Amino acid sequence: MSSLFAPVELAPRDPILGLTEQFNADTRTQKVNLGVGVYGDENGRLPLLQAVQQAEARLLATPRPRGYQPIDGAPAYNKAAQALLLGSDHAAITEGRAVTVQTLGGTGALKIGADFLRQWLPQADVVISNPSWENHRAIFERAGFNVGTYPYYDADSHGLDFEGMVKHLESLPAGTIVVLHACCHNPTGVDPTPEQWQRIAAVVQSRGLLPFIDMAYQGFGDGLQEDAATVRLFAGLGINVVISSSFSKSFSLYGERVGALTLLTTSADESARVLSQLKRTIRTNYSNPPTHGSAIVSTVLNTPELAQLWEQELAQMRNRIRDMRGQLVSKLAALGVQQDFSFILSQRGMFSYSGLSPEQVARLCNEFGIYAVGTGRICVSALNPNNLDYVAQSVAQVYKTS
Ligand code: PLP
Repeated sequence: MSSLFAPVELAPRDPILGLTEQFNADTRTQKVNLGVGVYGDENGRLPLLQAVQQAEARLLATPRPRGYQPIDGAPAYNKAAQALLLGSDHAAITEGRAVTVQTLGGTGALKIGADFLRQWLPQADVVISNPSWENHRAIFERAGFNVGTYPYYDADSHGLDFEGMVKHLESLPAGTIVVLHACCHNPTGVDPTPEQWQRIAAVVQSRGLLPFIDMAYQGFGDGLQEDAATVRLFAGLGINVVISSSFSKSFSLYGERVGALTLLTTSADESARVLSQLKRTIRTNYSNPPTHGSAIVSTVLNTPELAQLWEQELAQMRNRIRDMRGQLVSKLAALGVQQDFSFILSQRGMFSYSGLSPEQVARLCNEFGIYAVGTGRICVSALNPNNLDYVAQSVAQVYKTS
């Protein structure tokens, strides 16, 4: 029978989700999934934060009907998300130059931002870091942009190719959209230092580039306020800035799709026009955002004792990852691996470009049931006291015999 869908081609499998499928199908009893992009606690489980549970209990105590939300989402949520990025008394907020809309996670913020920019800055090109989160390219290309890359990771030093990055940014035409990771760069874990950020911001400003700052891991680097420094640095320049932010990781609310898109404008009047257009973009995508996740986040952020509890729980997640970094590095050294892994300590967030080659990654999988991304990216937050020794021993074995 002929089908109008016959020309539809099979899309390639998402490499990371494909890895998890492969992991789940692996029948070995000893296996570890370092490919995932979620935070696991010390037992390898996805946490349900106390702050979230208490917020849900409060919400349940006063049940509310589920009408449509405003197109741009819940005002209390948007205000809290904005304050977390900029600080509640930031001039951009008090002068009406910050526009925030609720989005379906950080991905939704990127998508709404990309669609909006494509409509209003149709001549612009986009650049993303090399490498970057896979979906950055896909989202901006889908929106119709040409997407290039700027140098970022330096494999030799396991650090930042700062000069290469700055030189490239200096060569870009005015109006180019530069996607930057605010902190905890995915996939490398390598972030610019505060001094390097100063220089990057100066180049962005002097070249008239548009920074699109993706903040998916606020609180996982050095702390909630510390991690917001990049956003605040750019916001302080008084230039246009686009920020996508996500609570998926920081609240462990992956499935609730809670995020925000914030645009910094140059006047309250411009803000009103921008907001009106963002609403059209949202309206024609999914009409308006869902209620539950934003109610949880908003309840936590707007209730001082819950906000405090959340900050403590976030700090626990951050410190646990840091502890795993430290333990992995010292265990590898203790096992006599010659390679210096100390760079893992200066990386931030959930991920590390471990320096493992594709062959070594394949051996870890085949011989030890340890799954990592072919690029050598490992999810450090998937390490825990139950699997750390096994992972360190396996990595050591692979290094010593390759
Ligand atoms: N941006 C980066 C850099 C990410 O790593 C992720 C998630 O992995 C996102 C955005 C998307 O986050 P969300 O799950 O909230 O859509």
